[in-house]
Amino acid sequence: MNQDIIYALKQISSDLELNTNEKMSRHTTFRTGGPASLFIRPGNAEELSQVVKLLKRAEVEYFILGNGSNLLVSDKGYSGAIISTEKFTDIRIEDETKIYAEAGVMNSRIASFARDNALTGFEFAAGIPGTIGGAMIMNAGAYGGEMKLITKEVRALSPQGEIIRLDNEALKFGYRTSALKGKDFVVVSALLQLEKGDQEEITQNMQELALKRKEKQPLEYPSAGSTFKRPEGYFAGKLIEDAGLRGYSVGGAQVSEKHCGFVINKDNATSSDIYRLICDVQNQVYEEFSVKLEPEVIMLGKF
Ligand SMILES: Cc1cc2nc3c(=O)[nH]c(=O)nc-3n(C[C@H](O)[C@H](O)[C@H](O)COP(=O)(O)OP(=O)(O)OC[C@H]3O[C@@H](n4cnc5c(N)ncnc54)[C@H](O)[C@@H]3O)c2cc1C
Repeated sequence: MNQDIIYALKQISSDLELNTNEKMSRHTTFRTGGPASLFIRPGNAEELSQVVKLLKRAEVEYFILGNGSNLLVSDKGYSGAIISTEKFTDIRIEDETKIYAEAGVMNSRIASFARDNALTGFEFAAGIPGTIGGAMIMNAGAYGGEMKLITKEVRALSPQGEIIRLDNEALKFGYRTSALKGKDFVVVSALLQLEKGDQEEITQNMQELALKRKEKQPLEYPSAGSTFKRPEGYFAGKLIEDAGLRGYSVGGAQVSEKHCGFVINKDNATSSDIYRLICDVQNQVYEEFSVKLEPEVIMLGKF
């Protein structure tokens, strides 16, 4: 990375955390991925805005990182800048039933915070191992719940570098997507509309859902959750199983034997192992059933 850019970034704030050649395997739940040329952790929205403006002026490509739980980074790494939201961690109650959370707050933390304040509606997301910023982009969902149903408003940095507010309608949530996805917006915070509930019931609901996940999902291995989107009229896991691919491996990557919809890092897999496995599964399922499986996992870098 050009030293002038690093120097200019350091002028934004003496506190701005910045690393070069940061291993992305430390920042993805697949635990794979080569180095990012630059890894930046802005401390607040103002710093974030200045970092984005500077990178745009310098024509440096950048990527916003939440918890990396839906991300496959190439073994060759990423030649641009990663902007992490990990310092965006404020969370508070507003107007008794709303939760304001900054983009880097983990869903598990929001769920515990909601439970502690006897607010219901977020239990479904307790086990989704990402940030609320990532959840807004992906319209994360599980067990009949989705972000669409509980989001009042998002504050985001627009492509023009202004902080704007988008209400639920403007966010155009769809299946694992939103108006913000791939559009150069950075989620800064979200306002969630929950309801008053019974703390014991909320706790029990969260425990039951956690148990369901543990029983059904290969949580003992690194993964990015469901690797493929649900194709219209089918279930990805069932198609993969019916194509005879349960346990199918490429290098250290494997189609989970416990849940065929998950590709897992079984044994020191590389990102290329995972990528090749994904391609093989897509080809095999297409050959057998003429159904195109589309990855839910986002790929970054060259494959
Ligand atoms: C074991 C396991 C179980 C899972 N179960 C579920 C599930 O039940 N339901 C479900 O929906 N998903 C599930 N996932 C997938 C994943 O957790 C979700 O997609 C999650 O919402 C991603 O959040 P993240 O913070 O990790 O985002 P990342 O993976 O870091 O990023 C995902 C995308 O969002 C963008 N992004 C992240 N933060 C921001 C921001 N602040 N502003 C702009 N763009 C941003 C990134 O650029 C990228 O395009 C699971 C994953 C695992 C590993």
